[in-house]
Amino acid sequence: MGNIQLLLRQHVGAPCEPVVKAGDVVKKGTLVAKPTGLGANIFSSVYGVVEEVKEDRIVIRPDEEQPDEYEKISEGTPLEMVKEAGVVGMGGAGFPTGIKLDAHLDHGYILINAAECEPGLYHNIRQIEAESDKIVRGVKYCMDIAGADKAIFAIKKKNEKAVETLRTAIKDEEAMTIHLLPDIYPMGEERAVVRECLGIELETTQLPSAANAVVVNVETISRVAEAIEERKPCFVKNMTVIGKLNGGNEPHVFMNVPVGTSVGEMIERAGGIDGVYGEIIMGGPFTGNPTDLDAPVTKTTGGIIVTIDFPNLHGAKVGLLVCACGGSEARMRDICEKMNGVVASVARCKQAVENKPGAPLKCERPGNCPGQAKNNIQFKKDGCEYIIIGNCSDCSNTVMGSAPKMKLKVFHQTDHVMRTIGHPLYRYLRVSKHVEQFPDGK
Ligand code: SF4
Repeated sequence: MGNIQLLLRQHVGAPCEPVVKAGDVVKKGTLVAKPTGLGANIFSSVYGVVEEVKEDRIVIRPDEEQPDEYEKISEGTPLEMVKEAGVVGMGGAGFPTGIKLDAHLDHGYILINAAECEPGLYHNIRQIEAESDKIVRGVKYCMDIAGADKAIFAIKKKNEKAVETLRTAIKDEEAMTIHLLPDIYPMGEERAVVRECLGIELETTQLPSAANAVVVNVETISRVAEAIEERKPCFVKNMTVIGKLNGGNEPHVFMNVPVGTSVGEMIERAGGIDGVYGEIIMGGPFTGNPTDLDAPVTKTTGGIIVTIDFPNLHGAKVGLLVCACGGSEARMRDICEKMNGVVASVARCKQAVENKPGAPLKCERPGNCPGQAKNNIQFKKDGCEYIIIGNCSDCSNTVMGSAPKMKLKVFHQTDHVMRTIGHPLYRYLRVSKHVEQFPDGK
């Protein structure tokens, strides 16, 4: 096992402040950094010695022996224990869960985000198949803490085994139901989950609490249960490693990986990189970012993807269509550069809005496209031969309604990933948005 690197910022909020120094001996579960404002405690994920405390991370040299036991958090109310355990939104958002659950809902809803929306990621669904009882117990804790009377699991209908497992797990739980989602992207965005489960369209500035709901990811719920039942600090992460790997492109799901493990070590555990590759992505194909072998896994790392090489556009002019559900403009430019294209025009989906200058884009109506013909006309005017889009399933469809007629050649920012994992490219939507529900939600 290589060195563990614990980033001081692996959550929404300010970086944590280290409470250890070089030479300190730590155990699994030793508190190593505390929040200075909004944030969450960070714990050692191994037995070892602190090698270095840097500005942005704590580096720990692990012992050879790694017993399963860990330092427990102190007893307290369920909410206090979730806060002390440093649980954050492990679906990728990283918002401190103790603050989210402290919602004081009025007979409201816990919406369990089991959409696992990004293609190629499987760890949430596998966890439901393997640990549905723990998840149901975690949901009950979340309901009690947040003041919710009901809980709804939002899960894609295509995950038949997980859906059946859930149906069995909740058959005697009067307050819990299932809402089936279509297999389109995006469905896992919080406001999309609220809209699908409750039929309420939130503004881009509104939180789910405006719909009397709290949205919590599946893995986060299991960490809530561990904090309360086992007094376990949050120092491990579930993830999927997939891509151009020795042994093939099947997904490798890893549960309870020590936070701070390097990307390179996880790729080796999955078989190692198979020859020439394009890039390594941390996260999903839509919202993930390029990373390197030395980067550490954090509490929000859900995927590590090794892609095939990029096509070469030989310096052709490219238009970028930036959307709230895909990569940022910087990420789209990065992909264009890796394809040896030259950015000649940048447009934004008109439903993608910036709530504050510089803030990540939010979609006004996720997954329901306003049409993209106007942007395509602009790209054509600007002399583009190619366009790279980052759109959702629905909008990719509307791009394709006009771009080929204008002789614009279309790439989606996820193409190199989709080709790597054998997934259909995002071009024409062939999946119905309508899904038949179970009559009583079970
Ligand atoms: S409407 Fe636009 S911003 Fe919204 S999900 Fe679709 S492409 Fe993204």
